[in-house]
Amino acid sequence: MPYSLKSGHEWRAWDWIAPLAAAAGLVVLTVMFGRELRDFRKDIIGWAERDLWARTELAAETLSEPLATSDFRRIHAFGDECTRKGVRLTVLSANGGLFFDTVRRGEEPPPAISVDRPCGEFVVRLGLPLSRVLEPVERARRGLVLAACLGGFAVLIVFFFTFRQRVRIRELARVERFRRDFIADISHEIKTPLTGILGAVDLLEDELGRQADAGPMVRRLAELTRGEARRMNELVQSILDLARLEREGEGLEFVETDVRAVVAETLARVAPQAAKKGVRVKDVSAASGPLTARIDARLVSQAVANLLTNAIRYSGSPEVTVATDVRSRGFEIAVEDRGIGIPAAHRARIFDRFHRVDASRSSENGGVGLGLAIVRGIARRHGGEVRLEPVEPRGCRFVLSFPDSLVIARDK
Ligand code: ADP
Repeated sequence: MPYSLKSGHEWRAWDWIAPLAAAAGLVVLTVMFGRELRDFRKDIIGWAERDLWARTELAAETLSEPLATSDFRRIHAFGDECTRKGVRLTVLSANGGLFFDTVRRGEEPPPAISVDRPCGEFVVRLGLPLSRVLEPVERARRGLVLAACLGGFAVLIVFFFTFRQRVRIRELARVERFRRDFIADISHEIKTPLTGILGAVDLLEDELGRQADAGPMVRRLAELTRGEARRMNELVQSILDLARLEREGEGLEFVETDVRAVVAETLARVAPQAAKKGVRVKDVSAASGPLTARIDARLVSQAVANLLTNAIRYSGSPEVTVATDVRSRGFEIAVEDRGIGIPAAHRARIFDRFHRVDASRSSENGGVGLGLAIVRGIARRHGGEVRLEPVEPRGCRFVLSFPDSLVIARDK
């Protein structure tokens, strides 16, 4: 497979769709608000016309007494009040002639809105310029333009940063894929000669067994070579297992399986190893009723075996238990020990590849730090998870949880 780590961004549809959708949304909102504003403008002119006296907050009682030509002082005082409020006052005589005006003729265009009210011998006209009537509309319009500009700017900034983030994430995913495929391919290439070496070392040991005069040094070297080759074989196999689990396309064999039987069989498989270490392993499931689920039995067994082997190898606990229990949603398989436990500082990363709590202890036991990563991979490929819970006063409890969708039959 050719490998290339050349960087370069490939545009994806989403890179365009997201900002375009946001910009389109903004335009639609602005148009909608613009329409509302137009209606608001019409309404406001209507209100102003209907209720000019109240709007201008003029003391209507000034004119409650009918006006006569001799009331020039009253008219002037009222005119001053109107000027202060920015309202134009025009007093017309009954035949329409101009008697009084707060604005000199030709000084200002005729007011946009005017209301006439008969008062004694006169008709009193209040007028408001359009700019004054539409002041709130203008303010709202300015607000709308500002909001649209700020919104557009925010969309640009969000787009810029999320785009940069997405490019980084894709780049990381690409490097990660590259690393994974590269390691998997190399491991695959190493596997064949390694199998050859293991076979050759086995033959060599057989041969040494037959030769009575073979020196202890040669025997020791053969044993060492076999041990290291086995360890390397285990590492290569783990890397290949993990790569297979992480390749989405790689199909699993989901078949209807008796989960309790798989756990029992795994327990039986690790029993000799436990016995060698003087560890008791037992099933402590709360119930023993049927539990059938659509799972990849080989992988689930591998996950349970990894957890049991870890507990046997590392915990130092005299007893390791496994429990398969049905939950309200799905089912769980928990492996628990009362051993040394895992320090809190390591818990968050314990399922990461090559993460080991104590590298020397792990190597002594033949571990490479991939066992729990494989367990997590297996759980996730089943749509489930694995979690670590500390046990009081000491020890660990690893819980594999599987979703309800996998369950075919279970005890109620
Ligand atoms: P390894 O291949 O080294 O066994 P794992 O991913 O299975 O790697 O485990 C990671 C580390 O977690 C081990 O190195 C070990 O120190 C620690 N560990 C795992 N299970 C237990 C346990 N039950 N008790 C104590 N430590 C554990």
